[in-house]
Amino acid sequence: MRIHHLNCGCMCPVGGRLMDGVSRGLAGQLVCHCLLVETDRGLVLVDTGFGTRDVEAPYERLSPFFIHFNRIQFDRRYTALEQVRRRGFSARDVRHIVLTHLDFDHAGGLEDFPEARVHVLQTEAEVTKVRHGFIQRRRYRPEQWDGVRDWRFYRPGGERWFGFEAVRDLDGLPPEILMVPLPGHTAGHAGVAVDTPEGWLLNAGDAYFYRHEMDAAPRCTPGLAAYQRMMEMDRPTRLHNQERLRGLANDRRSRTRIFCSHDAVELEALSRLGSGWRPV
Ligand SMILES: [Zn+2]
Repeated sequence: MRIHHLNCGCMCPVGGRLMDGVSRGLAGQLVCHCLLVETDRGLVLVDTGFGTRDVEAPYERLSPFFIHFNRIQFDRRYTALEQVRRRGFSARDVRHIVLTHLDFDHAGGLEDFPEARVHVLQTEAEVTKVRHGFIQRRRYRPEQWDGVRDWRFYRPGGERWFGFEAVRDLDGLPPEILMVPLPGHTAGHAGVAVDTPEGWLLNAGDAYFYRHEMDAAPRCTPGLAAYQRMMEMDRPTRLHNQERLRGLANDRRSRTRIFCSHDAVELEALSRLGSGWRPV
């Protein structure tokens, strides 16, 4: 099993280091950290960032509010499809896509992979149908996924994963890949865990946004703290799950490396380590 860390989207919201903790100047930098996993069942994508059609016609697919607020940088080079091709594969080789949730910055590339089966929590699929309120109407964009033909929806159950609820035996996927419900940011939000020879790798999606939120003494930039509050569906549950993740991240015995979707420093560190990352 070989794992590639992809950046499938770049957002440069106003705020600089008040947003991402490092940028000089006015703009911060947020990435869309996705995984491409080579398995014996074909390629598996975990999240898709922005896709070809988002780049070609952003105003037909996305809300102008988020295009401007997040200052999304539309560039074909960031699409998962381009990065899959650059590694010598084709769109058809991507057999499965596992989604942390269906927000516009995670689901944009779904239709670039027509052969893929898409796995998501049942609750997330349900909540996208109730698009009440300013944020809910703009975050979920059915235009991004109405061409998907092969869905699989799941409810958690069975053996737990480090005390978290889990979805195992995803239809057609190897047992090393499972979903870990982490609601709060959205009602059906999940992490995606991959069992590797080095230990567990957990894509925590938008369960947190800033790397130091996983520190034993957590902190967050004011910009990302505000953004998370704006986007949350259930604050107590979100904070509770962050707390549990922090416990896992700081338990060396778990041999688990956790990362989130939008932290550029985490992405850079894991890209550098490649498949040979070590749990910290
Ligand atoms: Zn996101």
